[in-house]
Amino acid sequence: MDSYTQSSLVAHAECPQKYHWSYEYNGNGITPILPAHYLVSGDVGHRGVAMLYRSLSMNAVSNMVAKVFGEALAKGRHVSPDTIQQFRTQQEVIRAALYGYQRRYIKEIKGRTVVKIIGNEVPYKWQLETKRGTYEMTGVIDVHAENRRKRRAYIFETKFLSQISRTFQEDVEFSPQTDHYLIGAFESFMRSGWELRVIVNYIRKSGLRLKRGEGYRQFLERIREDYLQRPEHYFHRRIVRKTPGSILEAKRRMIAQISMLQYQKRTNYWYKNGRACNAKGRCWFFDLCNYGDRPGVMANFRNKTSRHEEIPETEG
Ligand code: SF4
Repeated sequence: MDSYTQSSLVAHAECPQKYHWSYEYNGNGITPILPAHYLVSGDVGHRGVAMLYRSLSMNAVSNMVAKVFGEALAKGRHVSPDTIQQFRTQQEVIRAALYGYQRRYIKEIKGRTVVKIIGNEVPYKWQLETKRGTYEMTGVIDVHAENRRKRRAYIFETKFLSQISRTFQEDVEFSPQTDHYLIGAFESFMRSGWELRVIVNYIRKSGLRLKRGEGYRQFLERIREDYLQRPEHYFHRRIVRKTPGSILEAKRRMIAQISMLQYQKRTNYWYKNGRACNAKGRCWFFDLCNYGDRPGVMANFRNKTSRHEEIPETEG
């Protein structure tokens, strides 16, 4: 049975060729040996937020950030000084962002609000039945919370972004990733008569650069201060109310996308969306798309061991 995650559907929506490289090529797809620094940022950001909700200390979070960035960088071959600087700068920015997050949402993290945190990094798995077949959908919800008095369930999505435009906020609501989370939450832990709300936390971390002559320690202190003094500049929260009707609509969109994806798979028709090549930086498959899968280009990639490496084996 084919399985899909939020990330795989987002990759397909961005560019079918990107989906093919990431999830189909050579069996399970391929991945860059040195991941893009913004991907590492998103990954450690999510892990850091989960650790904060599990009441782990800021020190432990900070050490985890340094460890993951260090390990990612160590995987690269011929890493340029520019890349090293990008990684180290991002590492400090994420540390500062998590420090600010803890201060901004301290009540929630310490359990002093009416919203009770039930769990974080909650894995889910459900089956989507369509006319053409059944598909397995898997994922991990950042945070699951409840307000029993009001019979409401909440799921939190955390986005680490370089910019937050109004259009982006609306795009996020309709992205296949949000649909996936939403239906996953409904299928996994909704109770009858309850209402579901999606809390989207946007954490902005752009425009933060090392100043000339500034060391990483000074940089971290400066941006931490900024996160504390101007939290409204960095933290945005949007609460989206979802009804059973919205879930049905989201399922229809998801079935349409998977039907298209299945058709492309049968016909091996993975068209390229040129507009996505430079979106959010530059696509890591750019050389592969432009020069083909020759050995020199392939040396920068490795075969994935499982199709959805982002989902732990035991849960996937
Ligand atoms: S480089 Fe462009 S066309 Fe190729 S996979 Fe990436 S987004 Fe798609």
